[in-house]
Amino acid sequence: MKCSRCGNDAVIVQDYAGVALCSRHAAADIEAKAKREVRKCGGIASGEKLFIMGGSSAESHALSTLLSVILAGRRDVTFTTDVASATAVVTADTLDDIAEHLLCQVCRGDAAELLAVPEKKTLRPLSVVPRTEVCFYARHHGWTGDCSTQDSSAFCSDIAAFLKTFSADHPSAAYALKRISDQLPDLYLERQNHAV
Ligand SMILES: [Zn+2]
Repeated sequence: MKCSRCGNDAVIVQDYAGVALCSRHAAADIEAKAKREVRKCGGIASGEKLFIMGGSSAESHALSTLLSVILAGRRDVTFTTDVASATAVVTADTLDDIAEHLLCQVCRGDAAELLAVPEKKTLRPLSVVPRTEVCFYARHHGWTGDCSTQDSSAFCSDIAAFLKTFSADHPSAAYALKRISDQLPDLYLERQNHAV
């Protein structure tokens, strides 16, 4: 298959967008989406102290590469290892993580966590990028380790398997779940404020 933008060999296919992309255009697409998501969640202000959540996974490697792109030339942003002193938390959650988490909470009947507003500004740059593309991005930038997902409970593994099967015929499903996940806390707050 050929890249929809330049005609070179494609390395990823985005069924949800109806395009195929070569490695150069896939990386650029991921970075553009991630930057947009960061801006949507309040951006990275001057003087910001970032706490990075994550470990040694492919997702974390992708996140640190992405942050070096997003913060290139910025000297007004620092990193901290103490979450209490951070002004913003950055996570390596992928689109799949967000969608699976939402479905897990729904199937567990746990409304409280779905409606919780984070205490600190939270940026999830990779939450608009499917896990397979995050993995591509990590490998594109030198990751040679495992790309498999972290261990999760049998319950959430079943949810992940269901979502994978469902998404094969409905490729936008994870994005729809992400939109719900983004909107719920604000909708709940709005509803509460009207009730007062
Ligand atoms: Zn291309």
